[in-house]
Amino acid sequence: MLLKDQERAKRILETLQKTKKYPNALLIEGPEGVGKTVCALDLARGMLCLQDQVWGCSECESCKLLENFATKFLQGETEDFEVYSEGDKKVFLYLACGHPDFIFVPPKGDSLKIDQIRGVKDFVPTKPALSPRKVIILDKADLMTLEASNALLKTLEEPQIQTHFILTAPSRESLLPTVASRCYTLTLSPLPKDVFFELTGLRDEKLYVLSGGSPSKATIFNKIKDIYEALTSKDPAKVYGALQKVDGLSLREKEVILDALEEFLLSEGKAEATLRLSQVRSGLQRGVKLSLALANFLL
Ligand SMILES: [Zn+2]
Repeated sequence: MLLKDQERAKRILETLQKTKKYPNALLIEGPEGVGKTVCALDLARGMLCLQDQVWGCSECESCKLLENFATKFLQGETEDFEVYSEGDKKVFLYLACGHPDFIFVPPKGDSLKIDQIRGVKDFVPTKPALSPRKVIILDKADLMTLEASNALLKTLEEPQIQTHFILTAPSRESLLPTVASRCYTLTLSPLPKDVFFELTGLRDEKLYVLSGGSPSKATIFNKIKDIYEALTSKDPAKVYGALQKVDGLSLREKEVILDALEEFLLSEGKAEATLRLSQVRSGLQRGVKLSLALANFLL
């Protein structure tokens, strides 16, 4: 299995795998980078294994297909997107890795769209062709559009035979409440320091705090560390220099900088400044230039 740490979650999942009482929809929630997607893939492997092994047997046709998929996906190779066609309209929808009973739906661009959920709907009524059941993973389900969420809700309300949804999201609250209420929730905890150090290969206490224990955030943060350090240097010339650079960052990098500033302010006991920082954040979402918003905030 690929999931690191998370002993409590593993125990719950093992019980599910042994009793085969899988919920129709399971939400795996937890902070970024703690292994939600990996956990979903591990669970799916066990659910679809032809030898009925808790975490998959690694030998049956189903396990081989899913292991191959997980390796490719985690390396960022997603070229085998399946294309779904509706009349003459063709849309990219999901990754299926050649397994007839498995669909993996990641966000397309910055959201998970209704076309993708529509494609999934056609998969739900079919009988499993290889495994004892079918699994649909909706990765980063918090990025579902409102339309997509409502379409999913309808699907979840209809009876599903041998079909199980696994959703991943930072928190239950990030989903439409009606969708969340239909999901059994499994919470993954933030990574403990030693696991974080092992995964990032860096024994850096400060990095652990500033990235909220998320290895993927830590990787981004490390790339833009100089900018962050200049912004928090309290030296007007350095701050000004860093402000010249922030608008050129990607949206994700900007968010990571803001998260780190927030952790920094909290560690300095400046709760009020943290509130003002949340205004900078909402400005960023409205398209306000980060350099301008931060200049007001820092100078
Ligand atoms: Zn197997």
